[in-house]
Amino acid sequence: MAFDQHGRHIDYLRVSVTDRCNLRCLYCMPEEGVAWRPHEAMLTLEEIARFIAVAATEGIKRIRLTGGEPLVRRGIDDLVRSAVRTPGIESVAMTTNGILLPKMADSLRQAGLSRVNISLDTLDPEQYRYITRWGTIDDAFKGIDTALATGFKPVKINVVVVRSLHQDLLAFARMSMDRPLHVRFIEYMPVGESCGGAGLGWTAADTIPNEELIDLISQSAAAAGLGQLTALSKPSEAPDGWGPARYYHLEGAQGTLGFISALSRHFCGQCNRLRLTAEGELLPCLFSDLKFDAKAALREGTDEDVRAVLLDALGSKPSSHHNRVGTERLMHQIGG
Ligand code: SAM
Ligand code: SF4
Repeated sequence: MAFDQHGRHIDYLRVSVTDRCNLRCLYCMPEEGVAWRPHEAMLTLEEIARFIAVAATEGIKRIRLTGGEPLVRRGIDDLVRSAVRTPGIESVAMTTNGILLPKMADSLRQAGLSRVNISLDTLDPEQYRYITRWGTIDDAFKGIDTALATGFKPVKINVVVVRSLHQDLLAFARMSMDRPLHVRFIEYMPVGESCGGAGLGWTAADTIPNEELIDLISQSAAAAGLGQLTALSKPSEAPDGWGPARYYHLEGAQGTLGFISALSRHFCGQCNRLRLTAEGELLPCLFSDLKFDAKAALREGTDEDVRAVLLDALGSKPSSHHNRVGTERLMHQIGG
């Protein structure tokens, strides 16, 4: 079992498999001018699989594949298969924009992928195109339909809420009624602002604190006759335990509504994760520039060297992000 220097139990690894993407969401990635790193700078799938195998011997049990868009990485299903077969790994999940799921869901499921989070910030076609710059909402809807039909469980919808966007959040509450969809509202993080790349100048004022959001949705759901928004009382009622979200549900709903607050009520005290970037940097915290060179250990070293990098990162995990938001990287380079 791995513990960090603050006694937190670390069993979760988020792996960004690429910094490339088939969309260009306003808050995540600039439309143009991204300085693409050469292919050789990225970890190969074999290197990622080896890192996961070493991490599993140190107590990592759960893997989430992310990006950029993980489904644009060729061979991603092979990586899923090898991660699933790694002794000690209990679940392999993915965060995706869902666009390529209709093509790839079957092979991912057969490879052992158990769950998917699909990012969708609006149910309005024009607003979807505006936010993603390149996307067509029907493609995301087809991705969601496919995820449910393929049997991924749970299927969660990640909604980044930005005050200036005036998203119709009640529409998402409705979405949780008819199908087993677990909608999670995520506070916008003005990450890219500090390096000038993303967010259209949105600042911390564009982050709607979870408490405000819960009130807002609760009131508008009641006014629309959707019933009472009730907090789930037991972890067993949540889609997969508690995680960092607080979960609620509307009476009679098949799904739930979750609220994730990285900022207004951060969960650093319960942080259980490390992040591996596509370039092989191991990051102890989303909001820190601290990084550890896993790529060099993977390319030039033994498994013991890889383990040493992992233990260095664990030993350096900050106790909290200390309200610093923003690093030298944009979100598509970290993986969210
Ligand atoms: N392309 C995949 C997707 O969109 O789901 C995976 C990568 S994306 C970087 C992972 C998550 O980070 C997505 O749910 C996305 O909405 C979220 N994200 C990106 N930029 C963000 C920001 N500035 N604030 C909050 N969440 C953000
Ligand atoms: Fe791509 Fe996901 Fe970033 Fe959107 S949020 S640009 S889909 S990586």
